[in-house]
Amino acid sequence: MADMTLMEKIVSLAKRRGFIFPGSEIYGGLAGTFDYGPLGVVLKENIERLWLQMFRDDRDDMQGIDAAILMNPKIWEASGHVAGFSDPLVECGKCKRRFRADHLEDTTKCPECGGALGEARQFNMMFKTHAGAAEDDSATVYLRPETAGGIFANYKNVVDSIHPKLPFGIAQIGKAFRNEIAPRDFIFRLRELSQMEVEYFIHPSEWEQAFEEWRKMMHLFAKAIGLPDTMVHELEVADGDRAHYSKRTIDFEFDYPFGRKELWGLAYRTDFDLSAHEKGSGVSQGYLDEETKEKFTPHVIEPSLGVDRTILAVLASAYREDELGDETRTYLALAPKIAPVKAMVSPLLKNKPELVEKARAVRAQLKKVHPAIAWDDNGNIGKRYRRQDEIGTPFCITIDFDTLGENPELKDTITLRHRDTGEQERLTISEAATRIRDAIQ
Ligand code: ATP
Repeated sequence: MADMTLMEKIVSLAKRRGFIFPGSEIYGGLAGTFDYGPLGVVLKENIERLWLQMFRDDRDDMQGIDAAILMNPKIWEASGHVAGFSDPLVECGKCKRRFRADHLEDTTKCPECGGALGEARQFNMMFKTHAGAAEDDSATVYLRPETAGGIFANYKNVVDSIHPKLPFGIAQIGKAFRNEIAPRDFIFRLRELSQMEVEYFIHPSEWEQAFEEWRKMMHLFAKAIGLPDTMVHELEVADGDRAHYSKRTIDFEFDYPFGRKELWGLAYRTDFDLSAHEKGSGVSQGYLDEETKEKFTPHVIEPSLGVDRTILAVLASAYREDELGDETRTYLALAPKIAPVKAMVSPLLKNKPELVEKARAVRAQLKKVHPAIAWDDNGNIGKRYRRQDEIGTPFCITIDFDTLGENPELKDTITLRHRDTGEQERLTISEAATRIRDAIQ
């Protein structure tokens, strides 16, 4: 059963606490767009940084690029997007609502008003715009529907400038745009989205090994961002359902509150893209193996990860409620590595200058471990803890009179509270620093 109440709670928390806002909200919104707020942008950056670290920087065989979103439209003609990047659209003759035919159980009857649905037609999902002052067809450009296009178009530039040996890959994070027929489920199906993609270039004989390697890497990444194994599932895409150029595809699916749906994809794309660009541009996309003197067009393994769907999976799996008497404690059990705030420091009382001064000094010291150490001296300690719980801050640190030496044995010790259990420990300041450092590594 779909648990929409959980979804509503996540959407509400995301807005209330500054993670994610509806796009253009003061003007009534714009379907399929959302804006990341002060905490959301940090969560997003932390996830992207971790991906860059694992998929690019920790490896010797990876390069990065940041390609333009607007590209020569011939790229999308060669890749097949102009002719085929489409979904089947059906319209209700009565209420005029539009649906994706492949998402309907009954393609004859409108799920909203029961009216008759028309024939399905292919609707191209690329956003079109015009480059320059002339609004004629010669100036038509597309907003890229996936970041991969920019990687393929730069394959030769990377080979000619960096001279990497095969196998090697190119990683990129960036925006992509899809004019989805029915954007829905919060940040699951957007019209403006972000992707983290790798194109990994190989000799065709190596494809199975490379595919396995990236498959493992995707599971490692899921673990690193705190997604429980039990909620991530592989779906081997059957022969007839794969894109025509793909010899193997695995969809990584996630148990979202609205059902099991695609989170990420991993595909063996053969030499389809480079061969298509060689044909389209007339520029050779071949690779010469200096040792064997073999010249060939590399094949490609593509791990493709949507940032927004990842964030939704993270929020949905981290959302928790504890019943404490007649009060409910809401918290996000975020992996400390990606939590936007790592710890909050506060003085027990805000009207005692000596406590405030000491707490500020402790915060300054902890900021050397990580800059995201928050300060909160509003309201009572319980309220401060609740606020941090809701945004997923793993630790809260309180400075009291014992820290100042009222009890000499406890001088320079603090209280460290753990988000998930609410347990508190008395630790020295440097022990607290170590706890934070260990948790975020
Ligand atoms: P779907 O079948 O759900 O439309 P897709 O198979 O078209 O997705 P891909 O083209 O494989 O998706 O895109 C790669 C990744 O980009 C997806 O696994 C997903 O994480 C993300 N993604 C694709 N479309 C959207 C969208 N409209 N909104 C948010 N993320 C998306």
